[in-house]
Amino acid sequence: MNPQAQEAYDLDRKYVLHSWSVQGKLSPKVITRGEGIFFWDGDGNRYADFASQLVNLNLGHNHPKIIEAIKKQADEMCFIAPQFVAPSRSRLAEKLIGYLPDTFGKCFFTVGGADANENAVKIARAHTGKQKIVTRYRSYHGATYGAISLTGDPRRPPVEPALPGIVRVFDPYCYRCSFGLTYPECRLQCAENVREVMLYENPDTIAAVLFESITGSNGVFVPPPGYMERIEEICRELGVLLICDEVMTGFGRTGKLFGFHNFDITPDIVTMAKGVNSGYIPLGVVAVSSEIAKTFDESMLYCGLTYSGHPISCASALGNLEAIEEEKLIENAAAMGERFKAGLEKLGERHGYVGDVRCIGLFACLEMVRDRETRDPLSPWNGPPGPMAHVSKALLDNGISAFVRWNFVFLAPPIIIDEAELDDSLTRIDKALEQASQAIAR
Ligand code: PLP
Repeated sequence: MNPQAQEAYDLDRKYVLHSWSVQGKLSPKVITRGEGIFFWDGDGNRYADFASQLVNLNLGHNHPKIIEAIKKQADEMCFIAPQFVAPSRSRLAEKLIGYLPDTFGKCFFTVGGADANENAVKIARAHTGKQKIVTRYRSYHGATYGAISLTGDPRRPPVEPALPGIVRVFDPYCYRCSFGLTYPECRLQCAENVREVMLYENPDTIAAVLFESITGSNGVFVPPPGYMERIEEICRELGVLLICDEVMTGFGRTGKLFGFHNFDITPDIVTMAKGVNSGYIPLGVVAVSSEIAKTFDESMLYCGLTYSGHPISCASALGNLEAIEEEKLIENAAAMGERFKAGLEKLGERHGYVGDVRCIGLFACLEMVRDRETRDPLSPWNGPPGPMAHVSKALLDNGISAFVRWNFVFLAPPIIIDEAELDDSLTRIDKALEQASQAIAR
């Protein structure tokens, strides 16, 4: 490592607490440079960013249009408080509402995804006068106190009993169906069960259903055809709002602008962050229907953040969206997504320990198993990595930075990726899977 990188590493280990880690077990890489789909560590090694960092860097590293937008806004005005009108905030709100169904009216800006979800819940509760929120077990909605309470995955326990009024339901996880059924014979039992739970809970006490439109960090569950439509129907029948968490699935990730665009549904509230500005500066958004927005014409909106609609964050989002439009990046994500899916399915056939390949657009998960017949996970849910450590290592050794969790390998490259980069990366992933399977067998 060069001396500057070494100094950064030493200071980090001495003074920085890292997310979701036992600090004493860490030896994080020093990253010194990023460009396009690649970044480089302090030893000069190059990695293809197949996690888009935290599935947020949709336009890759150092996109010139986002950088230019940030610089221009910084020169004009770095900050103005939320009670004033900031031109970049106004323009961004208009643009985002323009992308959403006609029923949408206004945006409240936040700093990231977690507080977008928390504010969405406050808004839903204020609008309906009801309290309960229905979420799924295999979900992630953020790590602040309220957002982690909404979350179903096992990162929640340290805050138990957490925020009251959260009701959880099972997931559309077809590979391991909670009801032991198979689509389509199941007749969407997972959706019907949501209705049953809501009836027992009393719909008069339920403000909203809050679902990721496609589950992200719990395993990329692409819901079976009809599931999201049925969920919307149930919400309408029972007088409950539908909130789509688009924090991970927004802005081209699934080959469409928003994940919910893969279905024939119209949510009431959409939360966003990450890809809205490719994460160059913290930003989150709660977009609400005109009907919900109207509630706050007469009554107080009890939401507020110093950095709500930070002018530079909003400008960076405008730069990001301009690039998405000009460079036709949604179309690119859809086309590369098809190629990606076909490539991953081939890998799935070649490597016996890939149990399931789930992919929509540039959003994929390989579910690794000990045995394809029994579907016994290669490492346990919420357990230590075990053999999966070989998979993580082999991917890195082959220049692929992926996100590995339990027996899942998440692959979500920036949506700017081109054919040559994708094909080269698939070859590297193939090699890594081969090396890891040999290491596991040893
Ligand atoms: N919602 C979803 C679906 C996410 O994947 C995440 C983060 O990964 C969040 C919310 C939280 O976003 P943030 O980390 O910006 O608070």
